[in-house]
Amino acid sequence: MTWEDHASLAPYNTFGIDAKAERLVHLESEACVAEYRLHPQGYAHQSLLLSGGSNMLLCADVPGTTARIAWTGMEVVRESDDHVWLNVAAGENWHETVLYTVSQGWGGLQNLSLIPGLVGAAPIQNIGAYGVELADSMDSLRFYDWATGDIRVMSAAECAFGYRDSLFKGALKGQGVIMSVTFRLTKHSHALKTSYGAIQDELSARGQEPSVESIS
Ligand SMILES: Cc1cc2nc3c(=O)[nH]c(=O)nc-3n(C[C@H](O)[C@H](O)[C@H](O)COP(=O)(O)OP(=O)(O)OC[C@H]3O[C@@H](n4cnc5c(N)ncnc54)[C@H](O)[C@@H]3O)c2cc1C
Repeated sequence: MTWEDHASLAPYNTFGIDAKAERLVHLESEACVAEYRLHPQGYAHQSLLLSGGSNMLLCADVPGTTARIAWTGMEVVRESDDHVWLNVAAGENWHETVLYTVSQGWGGLQNLSLIPGLVGAAPIQNIGAYGVELADSMDSLRFYDWATGDIRVMSAAECAFGYRDSLFKGALKGQGVIMSVTFRLTKHSHALKTSYGAIQDELSARGQEPSVESIS
């Protein structure tokens, strides 16, 4: 857990706005989150929880504490003949995660490449593009509750996903942190969606067959 005073947030929001955080704390591991929750200058003074900073407009300096999600990592936690279950830390870059799954030949996230932000923020609005949304491939996520310090494993059904919507924009808004997300991805027989937008036209123009890689 690394602390800075009067830190510029320019590197941490996609507009590059040079708003200053009175205190900025980088949460570099999951253990930091529990430590931060109880720290005298920590969660009790939190004004902002910052992920990739792509879905916010910083209009002024931020008083109190800004916490930045900075823990990374991913691992296959389960595998069958047909699927892999990939657990990804909240601080991983979304697009890089999609590219990694594509490089492994796993299907599910390929339509969602190039969406800005980090993995932990993705379930909040159930990110989507080209006829596919996160909910189609999400198995579960781990949610850290600020009030209790407990981690709750939530299935996709429990997240109440809708169009660019979830429980994290409703009853659980601001109540905790999405620590990691587990995706259930196909190893073969991928469901390839090419009918939305210009995907099929673009593949035809390039003379490419639909595949996880070409769609991405
Ligand atoms: C150019 C552009 C293109 C985009 N295209 C698409 C698109 O095609 N489809 C689409 O669905 N969206 C799109 N978006 C929206 C954006 O990609 C998503 O909202 C993304 O999930 C934001 O991620 P972030 O890490 O930048 O979140 P931030 O902007 O850092 O945070 C957004 C909010 O979520 C909260 N939050 C972030 N992470 C967590 C966490 N782990 N736990 C709890 N709360 C958290 C923050 O406190 C904040 O309130 C686009 C945005 C831009 C700027």
